[in-house]
Amino acid sequence: HSTGGVGDKTTLVVAPIVASLRLTVAKMSGRGLGHTGGTVDKLESIKGYKTSLSSDEFIKIAQKCGIAVVGQTGNFAPADKKIYALRDVTATVDSIPLIASSIMSKKLAAGANTIVLDVKTGSGAFMKSKEQAVKLAECMVDIGKRYGRKTAALITNMDIPLGNNIGNSLEVKEAVEVLRGKGPNDLREICIELSAMIVSSSTDKPFEESKKSVKEVLSSGLAYKKFLEWIAAQGGDVSVFDNMDRFCKPKYIYEIKANVCGYISYMNAEEIGKSSVVLGAGRNKKEDEIDYTAGIIMKKKTGDYVTMGETLAVMYSSTVNDFSLAEKMYLSALEFSETAVKKSPLMIDRVTK
Ligand code: URA
Repeated sequence: HSTGGVGDKTTLVVAPIVASLRLTVAKMSGRGLGHTGGTVDKLESIKGYKTSLSSDEFIKIAQKCGIAVVGQTGNFAPADKKIYALRDVTATVDSIPLIASSIMSKKLAAGANTIVLDVKTGSGAFMKSKEQAVKLAECMVDIGKRYGRKTAALITNMDIPLGNNIGNSLEVKEAVEVLRGKGPNDLREICIELSAMIVSSSTDKPFEESKKSVKEVLSSGLAYKKFLEWIAAQGGDVSVFDNMDRFCKPKYIYEIKANVCGYISYMNAEEIGKSSVVLGAGRNKKEDEIDYTAGIIMKKKTGDYVTMGETLAVMYSSTVNDFSLAEKMYLSALEFSETAVKKSPLMIDRVTK
């Protein structure tokens, strides 16, 4: 379970990898919160996918296919469902006790024996500093251990959005690319690391051996087959993956061009997440409807060199055709430098106590 970030579609890749290795992933995910996306919204961009199941259906699907991923419902974590929906409008999105209880209530209710947490830190995370992220990780690991669950956290970098795609169907598309053996390196690396942590903790296999097995199911296509089986088991129309461009097709497309040249030295991932919300990819009020086709494909990220007039990002929407506000926000989120910049590491620390 991730604490929330921008472009974070790891569940869509990790769950099928782990299930291909005969472990069961029975997971309750969240919706978008603040500037971050949510797995439930991403899954709902797939026609027919049911994010609300009865306990019986949830257990049956998890047992048969090895994966079931649902949203918070009145059956499983009723308090989280209500509190979560109020967090945006009560300015309590980044509260450590509320994040810890929100995440751990869902993990405990879904019955997980092994809990691996991806605690994000940086400009696009709720925890802006490493110290805060470690505090949140320790709090959640402590809760898990008190309930007798194997619990560990990986602290990862959310100073740069993960992968290249932000927005619901665009993120599903990118997750599918990784499962088909392509896709961006940062996303693939984090998914491999988290999957190996789950496998090694659940099976007591050494970490490096677990990582090798994870890489094998990814490269052999087994994990992608498992993904299709899971989506179909929850009612999703897998034929959408035959023509990915049609799946993500928005009414309006806009390219953001660079008005300077130089190396991108910093990205404010929160501001970038907010610009995707302006396009329709997230909610301002809890009753707002999401435009599943809305989002951003980043063409340049921190460390990349950009020439004047080059495309920085492509914006998609079916509900907004005036891109000026989203473009302004996106450009204000970037800083440039004349000299090359060193990228900060993707994986920062581990918390197991
Ligand atoms: N994910 C959750 O499920 N809850 C939070 O509070 C933050 C991220």
